[in-house]
Amino acid sequence: MNLLKYRLAQLVSSAQRAKPEYDLHRRVLMYHSINQHSDGDGGTYSILGSNFAAHVDLLAEHRESENSKIVSLDSPSESGVTITFDDGYQDTLTVAARILGAKKLPFTVFVTSQNITSGNPSYLSQSQLIELSKIPEVTIGSHGHSHTHLAELSSLEVHDELRQSKEWLEQTIQKAVTTLSYPHGSFNAEVVRIAADTGYKFAATSKWGVYQVGTRPLEIPRIDIWGPDTRRTLQQKLCGKWNWIAGLV
Ligand SMILES: [Zn+2]
Repeated sequence: MNLLKYRLAQLVSSAQRAKPEYDLHRRVLMYHSINQHSDGDGGTYSILGSNFAAHVDLLAEHRESENSKIVSLDSPSESGVTITFDDGYQDTLTVAARILGAKKLPFTVFVTSQNITSGNPSYLSQSQLIELSKIPEVTIGSHGHSHTHLAELSSLEVHDELRQSKEWLEQTIQKAVTTLSYPHGSFNAEVVRIAADTGYKFAATSKWGVYQVGTRPLEIPRIDIWGPDTRRTLQQKLCGKWNWIAGLV
């Protein structure tokens, strides 16, 4: 989404009514990386560090309320808010974990195993991944082995992607890995079947929506968080004012 479309979406969302019933559903937030230094546009999926800190303040302020408590992805709770990060960026450890950990807010990090072993400094190194996994608030999940569109692969290839990343992560962090986020949000019935077979219990998609009674745990919708999202935008997204955008993104 470019900035012009974003500004238009902001206008439309501001004019929407809050949806009171929306509070009773679980809202799963999807973050990617955090843009620490630049004042400029870090792209749709890189949120400004100051905006991220403001988001965490908002989430922490309302955590005592039943509808806004912060729960991990694998929690049985029907309400509340779940925080997730995709891809395994280095700033998930150096920025996000520091801010969320200080407030004792749980969050899940979906890691692409090949990103970790690639040596690309944008992503966590193996030792940083281990460090992140030891933080009590953190759950590590899989984001596939090579960040490929799973729905476009053969069943055998999907199986390899999901098993390889799970085994590598479990061996590296010495913990069970039962959560997954489909890379590029790409999945279909066969991918879900193989995910279940491989031992995943919860999987996050990139479809816009809430996690409610009847949602299949291997097809959990999320709410996209974008680069320019301020505290106010998050507040709007949490109360359903951006729901109209589902299906358009
Ligand atoms: Zn990704």
